[in-house]
Amino acid sequence: MAVHAGRDGLTQLGVHAVPIDLSTTAPLPSVHDGGLAYEHMATGGSHMEGQSTVYQRLWNPTVARFESGLAVLEGTPESVAFATGMAALSAVLLAVVAAGKKHVVAVRPLYGGSDYLLASGVLGNDVTFTTPEGVRAALRPDTGLLILETPANPTLELVDITEITAAADGVPLLVDNTFASPVLQQPFKHGAAMVLHSATKFLGGHGDAMGGVVATGPEWARRLRQIRAVTGGILTPWPAYLLHRGLATLPVRVRAQQASAEKVAVALAGHGLVQRVYYPGLAECDPGGVIGTQMSGPGSLLAFELASAGHAERVPAAVGMITHAVSLGGIDTLIQHPAGLTHRPVEAGAKPHASLLRVSVGLEEPADIIEDLLQALEATR
Ligand SMILES: *Cc1c(COP(=O)(O)O)cnc(C)c1O
Repeated sequence: MAVHAGRDGLTQLGVHAVPIDLSTTAPLPSVHDGGLAYEHMATGGSHMEGQSTVYQRLWNPTVARFESGLAVLEGTPESVAFATGMAALSAVLLAVVAAGKKHVVAVRPLYGGSDYLLASGVLGNDVTFTTPEGVRAALRPDTGLLILETPANPTLELVDITEITAAADGVPLLVDNTFASPVLQQPFKHGAAMVLHSATKFLGGHGDAMGGVVATGPEWARRLRQIRAVTGGILTPWPAYLLHRGLATLPVRVRAQQASAEKVAVALAGHGLVQRVYYPGLAECDPGGVIGTQMSGPGSLLAFELASAGHAERVPAAVGMITHAVSLGGIDTLIQHPAGLTHRPVEAGAKPHASLLRVSVGLEEPADIIEDLLQALEATR
């Protein structure tokens, strides 16, 4: 499915690779038909076969191919793509606020940017941050959305989606599936109404294209396309092509990176300078038994704690092959300091420990990744 989804009709077009359609505008057959097509798409409808696509902010064929490919992988009827993961989350929040229920219940931890967007209230939402156990008590009559990440950024906490759906009392649940990818976990099958990705991470997988996507059913898809058409946070054709191409190798990359991450986690957990390793594959990190049921494997993100913030800040500067950089899910291994970088805007009480580092394990030989991490730990002790 990853190789073929979104590639239909190529033979009839006489091509083998997916075409990149860069047109910002499209010929109109008549004022009447063009106008109807415009109205249909601007209010959240999909492009109608044989009609004009009118304007790229409303519809683009290359983007639509990526959307249908991702929907197949997530097992959802549809998906709606955006310029970035944050544009996707913004569209969801705007849709929730526009529907008149502006309170959001958010399970922490979340990606720092998502936490900050929710906490700032710039899009008109209220928010209550809580734990998985606190969800039911946090619900209000005006709660329009429940949001969580599993595994969560940066400490890889796992949440049982079915349990949360039961506690949510009908409030739609959005699961940020960026860390797991649809290869390891498909939240829609466990009751999530929406599945969000920063496509910038695993889906693209090469660190060279930004995007965001929400996989969902027809009703949310219509609302999100309408918000996208009027606010303009669209995914454009060139990154859409790269993200779609990334889907073909996604299962192979995810499994290879995961196999290496399991080795890196064991090596770090057995090292005297490491106080604690956070990795879903370690028994103590999966008390609820999520791996093997909801999630087919532990993935390739891990975090570890050192004895001091000072040591943690020195390590990223001491790696050689590995790159000190934010982002994750790409072909090469990255290390970063969440409290100082990705989770910097999170309020003090909810920030990750300053002695924590996060690693996204790439496709290099696992022995090379381990050797580089261990030499950096020793060199900076
Ligand atoms: C990176 C990230 C985002 C934001 O995505 P962008 O594409 O950077 O806008 C959202 N959620 C998670 C879990 C992320 O890692």
